[in-house]
Amino acid sequence: MSYDENELERLRQENEKLRAELDNERRKDTPQINSAVVETPELPVSLSEYQIALKRLMQRTAMIVQSEKCVVMVQDKETGDLIARSPAWGLNDEQVFAFRVPVGEGFSGEVFRTGHSRILENAIHDRRAAVENLREYGIKNGICVPLVVEKHDENNRVVDRSIFGVIHCFNKRKGESFVEEDVRLLERLAKSAAAVIANAQLYQEMAEDKQKLVQTIDSLSSGLILINSRGRIAQMNNQARKIFSIGIDEDLTDRVYTDVIHHEQCLEILKQCIEDCSNPGDKKAPKLDNDGEVIRNPDEITVISEDEEQLIYQIQAAGVRDASHNIFGVVFILNDITELRNVERMKTEFVSIVAHELRTPLTPIKGFVRTLLDDEKEEWYQPEDRREFYTIIDSNVDRLSRMINDLLNVSRIERGAGIEMNWQQADIRLACEAVLTTQKGRSDKHVLVLDLEPENFTAESDPDILQNILQNFVSNAIKYSDGGEVRIIGRLEPASEAFPDGSVLMGVKDEGVGLTETEIKKIGEKFFRSDNKKARSAGGTGLGLFLVKSLIAAHGGTMWVESEVGKGSTFWFRFPAKQHVAEEPVQA
Ligand code: ADP
Repeated sequence: MSYDENELERLRQENEKLRAELDNERRKDTPQINSAVVETPELPVSLSEYQIALKRLMQRTAMIVQSEKCVVMVQDKETGDLIARSPAWGLNDEQVFAFRVPVGEGFSGEVFRTGHSRILENAIHDRRAAVENLREYGIKNGICVPLVVEKHDENNRVVDRSIFGVIHCFNKRKGESFVEEDVRLLERLAKSAAAVIANAQLYQEMAEDKQKLVQTIDSLSSGLILINSRGRIAQMNNQARKIFSIGIDEDLTDRVYTDVIHHEQCLEILKQCIEDCSNPGDKKAPKLDNDGEVIRNPDEITVISEDEEQLIYQIQAAGVRDASHNIFGVVFILNDITELRNVERMKTEFVSIVAHELRTPLTPIKGFVRTLLDDEKEEWYQPEDRREFYTIIDSNVDRLSRMINDLLNVSRIERGAGIEMNWQQADIRLACEAVLTTQKGRSDKHVLVLDLEPENFTAESDPDILQNILQNFVSNAIKYSDGGEVRIIGRLEPASEAFPDGSVLMGVKDEGVGLTETEIKKIGEKFFRSDNKKARSAGGTGLGLFLVKSLIAAHGGTMWVESEVGKGSTFWFRFPAKQHVAEEPVQA
């Protein structure tokens, strides 16, 4: 990211300056400081290089001051506490991690707050040392000086001075005590080291911030791509990688975006957006098609997902500017709008399907009523013909009313209004037989079979609703097969953990067109219809199973489908044999 590059460059320059300052320092008459030992780390450019440089600094400081341990503490941005930073000399990572103190408390806190260096003469008896548990780290004595960063004006006058942490040296070698001279020496060292430590701190914070940003970007549900001004990928989150089937581990650093994304429609949009963002004033005349209509820039792309699903993404783009308002990249957000588009498409389809479905029974009703009316004196048709006409009219009126009921029920369910249940000890055989009687007349190519075990049994249910469920399944089984057997299966199953009072397992099995894995997942969704020849020619609203699912749920049950394309399907459902419906309170 160019932000990092700028920041790195700044840090490099600062290190350069620091090195020059230290060279200067070394040339001065500083007898205590062994100039061969105190050197600035070699232009650290990465976090690990900073770590190495800091470790060397800690080691050398400890050596010069002749102490066993050396550690830096800095103020934590979030908690405000002073916390020890790795690497330290003479303390392990665990000890460094535990070494922290609220600002103003303990020995370290006092130095930080007052800005004055201090000598800790005896850690065992010092109250401040106890606050920080210094004795637990094997600390006997020590010195602590503040770490200060200074800002200078062009005349090298100090314009700002701030303390950002402290540096400790603990346990004077050979059991000696620290003296003022040691403090002065550490102050000199701290002055030179402060910039390096501050830079390392800054670098680490930046790296952590960047890490957090990357994690945040990766957890977005939208795809995000940042392309820099050189047309290279600066950032691409996990979701965007998924959209374009790019491995999570594939290194995209500095790769040209056209080498990474191969989706032509998307590349077109990205190119256009990059052009538009780079030359915002340069609005060309809109492109026109052969009919003189404006060709709207497509900002949507269609992608086939790994599980063969067609997904629609909307692409939004925005130029990203640096502090000087220069565009240094373009960020793209890809939002999954498949659902939205599907709903829109379904709405349009629904209107035309419902109109068509309503008209289908109306045509024969109108035709036969007209025929009967035309025969004013009832002399053209025999009574049996008339009866047949009335039967046709009657069954079509039924079909019409079923459809209208379905539509009303969908709207009830959508509004969250529950289904009213008329609980009874229902005779399952009777309910199945009623369904078979209705459905038998519909086809002479199908054999309808009833398969119950035990042959007769009852369960708590609403028999009308149960019939409605079975009517839907059996009618579909006939509709989506060219013939063969349609079997209603019913089993009274013994008590189980999920159904302590036993359950009723029912299924409707056919030898029809079957369903694909993807279709099975969508069964029960509102308006879902398969996209095969049979389903297209059969007609329907895609509401039946949506309703059935709710009716089964009202029985406290669930439904599922087993199916194989070309072989047939079984639509299963299971509900508790006894319903625990709250009884009406008895009136006194
Ligand atoms: P409709 O039959 O009015 O389209 P349904 O909700 O009853 O609506 O069914 C939804 C879709 O599920 C159907 O369009 C069909 O594609 C599929 N389907 C339902 N039952 C079967 C079946 N027995 N065999 C194959 N496909 C089926």
